[in-house]
Amino acid sequence: MATTRDYYEVLGVERTANGDEIKRSYRRLAMKYHPDRNPGDAEAEAKFKEAAEAYEVLSDEGRRKSYDQYGHAGLRGTPGHDFRSMDPQDIFSMFDEIFGGGGRGGRRRQQGVARGYDLETQVEISLEQVLSGTTSEVDFTRLDVCETCHGDGAKPGTKRTACQTCGGHGQVAQSGLGGMFRMVTTCPTCRGQGTVITEPCETCRGQGRLPKRRRLDVKIPPGIRSGQAVAIRGEGEPPPPEQAPGGQGIRGDLHVVVRVSQHKVFERDGDNLTIRLPISFTQAALGAKVRIPTLDGEHEVVVPKATQHGRVVKVSGQGLPNLRNGRRGDLLVQLMIEIPQRLTAKQETLLREYAETEDHSVLPETQGFWNRIKDFIAGKED
Ligand SMILES: [Zn+2]
Ligand SMILES: [Zn+2]
Repeated sequence: MATTRDYYEVLGVERTANGDEIKRSYRRLAMKYHPDRNPGDAEAEAKFKEAAEAYEVLSDEGRRKSYDQYGHAGLRGTPGHDFRSMDPQDIFSMFDEIFGGGGRGGRRRQQGVARGYDLETQVEISLEQVLSGTTSEVDFTRLDVCETCHGDGAKPGTKRTACQTCGGHGQVAQSGLGGMFRMVTTCPTCRGQGTVITEPCETCRGQGRLPKRRRLDVKIPPGIRSGQAVAIRGEGEPPPPEQAPGGQGIRGDLHVVVRVSQHKVFERDGDNLTIRLPISFTQAALGAKVRIPTLDGEHEVVVPKATQHGRVVKVSGQGLPNLRNGRRGDLLVQLMIEIPQRLTAKQETLLREYAETEDHSVLPETQGFWNRIKDFIAGKED
């Protein structure tokens, strides 16, 4: 049976997420729950398979559409894999490309060099750090070559022997649907290596690799946006031992995905920053000067005479730097007129006096409004 959880929820993405975000999320989950990293953990394996199922649907435009419209019921009768009954290693190979092409039969392997999987981790930085650029410490776990057996998996001093299941071929043939077709799959006993370990290495229990924590200082360039990633060459995983015995081959990359945290005062709009500045109606009517903070200092904003509610005043060059050319965007100050909730007796007297002098008929918005109302009523009578 397939999962009944919402696929977007499974992948932890918004319903509006684009293909890249979906791919990235799946990659992160697949790495986190991969059985190699969670030996003997059935729950992790179930999550690993659930994520694959969600990814298979959401990465296919047609199936995603049906799912968006009709939910799980919309997928009935459409082709898809039953991930629950699949070997995790085969699932991994299926989506090989998005892990950096490290899986069995991967593109790069055919060129003779095995490449390990890419890893992904996240860091959160502040808007101030987007302005200046920063160095973030990242802490992640990756599979590393076992130092005792040098990635071989066999106890030092012992030899591997030919696999009995596949006769050393690394692949086995299975027939499906009563012999209608034949499927060649990776040998489950030796995982395609053709040989098996007689005495496993005690340090890694024959896996050839061990999960290890690693800390790195990562340079985050100024102007980076939420969701963008910094790639660090060669900080991913070494290829699995069946591809690169003895820990040969090249490591995958580490992708550090940046999240920019919400700021207390400023909002981001591309390279521009925005701020809502409350002003009183007298400041709006008479004009005023207001000092406001910027991300790295302060600035005097001139409120022009006769400012209307919602008007935007631009402070040039006080936004964020552009990732490519370093040029700073602007700070956009939106002026929000606030009406006093309470008036003193004196204020009320003054305002009533002012109201006596007020002529509504000359206000452009007011005029326009009543003209439209007139047209509306005339239209009704026709
Ligand atoms: Zn070992
Ligand atoms: Zn075998």
